[in-house]
Order: sequence, then C-alpha cells, then structure tokens
Amino acid sequence: MKPQIVIAGGGYAGLFAAARLRKYSGMKVTLIDANEHFVQRVRLHEYLAGRSVERLAYRDLLEPHGMDFVQGRIQSIQPDQQTLVLDSPEGSRILHYDWLLYALGSRTQRSQNIPGLLEHAFTLDAGPALDRAREVLQTLPAGSPVVVMGAGLTGLESATEIKEIHPHLDVTLVDAGRAFTGYTPKAEQEIRRVLKKLNIHLHENKTIARVTVDRLGFTDQSEIPCALAINCLGFEVPSLARDSGIRTAKNGQIQVDPYLRSLSHPRILALGDAAELDSSSTAAQRMSCASACPMGTYAADLLHRLQSGKKLITFRFGFTGRCISLGRRAGILQFVNAKDQPLQRFFRGRLAAWIKEMVCLGTVKVPLWELRWGVALYRWYQPKDV
Ligand SMILES: Cc1cc2nc3c(=O)[nH]c(=O)nc-3n(C[C@H](O)[C@H](O)[C@H](O)COP(=O)(O)OP(=O)(O)OC[C@H]3O[C@@H](n4cnc5c(N)ncnc54)[C@H](O)[C@@H]3O)c2cc1C
Repeated sequence: MKPQIVIAGGGYAGLFAAARLRKYSGMKVTLIDANEHFVQRVRLHEYLAGRSVERLAYRDLLEPHGMDFVQGRIQSIQPDQQTLVLDSPEGSRILHYDWLLYALGSRTQRSQNIPGLLEHAFTLDAGPALDRAREVLQTLPAGSPVVVMGAGLTGLESATEIKEIHPHLDVTLVDAGRAFTGYTPKAEQEIRRVLKKLNIHLHENKTIARVTVDRLGFTDQSEIPCALAINCLGFEVPSLARDSGIRTAKNGQIQVDPYLRSLSHPRILALGDAAELDSSSTAAQRMSCASACPMGTYAADLLHRLQSGKKLITFRFGFTGRCISLGRRAGILQFVNAKDQPLQRFFRGRLAAWIKEMVCLGTVKVPLWELRWGVALYRWYQPKDV
C-alpha cells in the first residue's frame, strides 16, 4: 500500500513540497489548508494597499495530478497515533498519516503586551480583517494619518506600497530602535532617500505603549494621530505543535534534526516558519519565503529517498540576498552572505524592484510548472560550510 503523506499547510513550504512530490510515484499525497486558495503571503502588503493579487484554488492545482486537497483548520495532532484532527466545512475529521509535513507557518505577532493593539491595529494576515483594512484605506479622506508599526521588511514594504497607491494619505513608519541596521550604509541611505521622496515620516527609537481608536501612544508619553494602524511588529508561531506534545523551541517552532525530522517524532518533518533549523543546516534563522521554499522541496526529495532506500542527504541552505520592494518603481536588493550578513554589494531603483517582482512571480510559477510537468526545476544555494 502507498504511504500516506499529509502536508499540513499549503503556504510556500507546503506548496513547494506538493509540487516536488508530483515527480515521484508511490506516495499518496493529501494537502490540508484552512483556506481554499493559496495565499501569496509575500504580496499581502500589495493586496492591503489595493492591488489585485492572483488567487489559485488548491483543488485546481492538485487534483489533476492525483493529489487530494482537504479544506479545514487543523485543531490538534496525535503524534503517537500518527493522526490529526481538523474542522472542515463538512464537520470534524480525523486523518491518518505515515509521514506528516508540518508547514503551518507563522502569523503577525499578537502576544505583545500593548494595550489596544489587538482591538485597533490591523495585521497582514489573510482574512476578513485584512479585507476590511483594504476597504478602509480606499475610503480615508486626504490627509488621514496611517501608521505602520515596525520598520522591518514587511513594515517598510507596506508603508511604501500604501503611500505609492494613496499619495493623499499621511503615512508614518514607526520603529522602537534605529531602523534599517541590517543593510550596508549606502543601501540604508537609499532606503531613507526613497522614504523622503515618497514623503513618508519615519519615527525611530519610539516604543509603542498603547493604541487607541485614533491615536498611538509611546513610552515617552508622546502621541501621534492615527486613523488606521498596521501591525508589522514581527511574526509568531502558533502553539499547535507544542500543545500536541511535539518538541518545540521556546517560540513554538518544531526542533528538527539535519533532515528536518522532528526531534521528538521523526515521522513529522517540520518546514518553513514552523521549523527551528538545526545549526548544521544554516547559520542564520530568519522566517522567510526564501528558506520555506527550499525546505518544502527538500522534504519531498527526502521522502522519495526514504521510500526508495537511497542515501539521505542533510538539508543545507544559505541566504543570498534580501530583496525589498519600495513601491512598484523602487527597491533594494541587499546581497548577503550565507549567514544573512550584508555584503557591500546592493542593487537599487527599478532594477531591484524588477528583480523582486521576478522573485515573487517565481514563488508561484516554479511550483506550478513542477506540478504541470512533473520535473524538478527548483534549485537553491546549498553552501558546504555554514
Ligand atoms: C507582507 C509580507 C511580505 C513578505 N515578504 C517576504 C519576502 O520578500 N521574502 C521572504 O523571504 N519572506 C517574506 N515574507 C515572509 C514569508 O511570507 C513567510 O516567511 C513564508 O510565508 C513562510 O512560509 P510557510 O510555508 O512556512 O508558511 P505560510 O506561508 O505562512 O503558510 C502557512 C499555511 O498554513 C495554513 N495554516 C495555518 N494554520 C493552519 C491550521 N491550523 N490548519 C490548516 N491550515 C493552517 C495557512 O492558511 C497557510 O496557507 C513576507 C511576509 C509578509 C506578511
């Protein structure tokens, strides 16, 4: 009988895993996701700002290639019985697995103890609240203050995208520390130049103390007006794995061996944001699409090797760059070493914006082509020493 592979979560890691599994016969594959459609998470700021983003139905992607899709929210996992429980539109279901690819990702941090954050700030997570934030942005009168909280990659991309589409709004980017320290001085200068050109206010070293319906308060007792607040304060991992008795790090990521197998339950492979990488795989930990896609592809190849009795190869991954759009007409491609530390080299302007667009397109097109043709197309940087 064919072993049952269950892919829990159809984000980048889950989709890339399914796409590569298409190449191999001898395994029965089921992908579960709470959504009916693949969410292009790296484009959620574009969606928020008002751009249209292509939606792809899992069923159309997978079923023509003999894979099953089950829509439902996974509630718990019983790793000792190799089962999981999910709430689907048809009711509660139990599914058995021989191998579980756990790729449930992350979401915007909610656990920070900032009064009013949950009630008054929108997050960049797909769902009705994001649809509502998009609507609010379309209807705000000229001059309305929009505040993006957190000047990391998502905050920076969100603020620039919003200002480019809604130039009449007064956009502010706020950070608790000095912003853009992860770039070379020249790349940082370029980011600051673009923010200035777009007329986006930047408040650094401002720690948010509270959010109200129309204001943002800081620990230094100052306040700024705010008609719409966007929470870009980082990502957190849901507690489902820990609650299910799987060994996790403090932040809830599943701890894995160099083959991405759970340390406590080796029939579970953890992928993407949900996994804490072993230090022999990479020297850097950054929740990213850049590492989720390789992990998904690797996991599929590993299952094939296990099935066919081939020698197992450990997962290796190195970062190559940080690619950031600053609206549609500008961007920064900061080259980094495998450990994610910035190198002197960077691209800017339209070239960087174009490269970022190609990267985003690739994260959808490459798995689609692998699914269609059943061939291995995706490659990533695998340094020998990390
Ligand atoms: C606006 C924005 C821009 C970004 N830009 C970049 C970028 O430029 N480069 C980069 O490398 N990274 C970027 N990221 C980060 C990147 O999107 C994530 O690191 C990446 O999506 C992680 O992939 P994943 O497959 O692990 O998880 P996800 O993509 O989060 O997918 C998880 C999937 O699991 C499903 N799921 C979750 N819980 C359940 C459950 N209980 N039951 C069923 N299904 C469930 C979800 O519906 C989702 O489809 C960006 C993120 C955001 C928000």
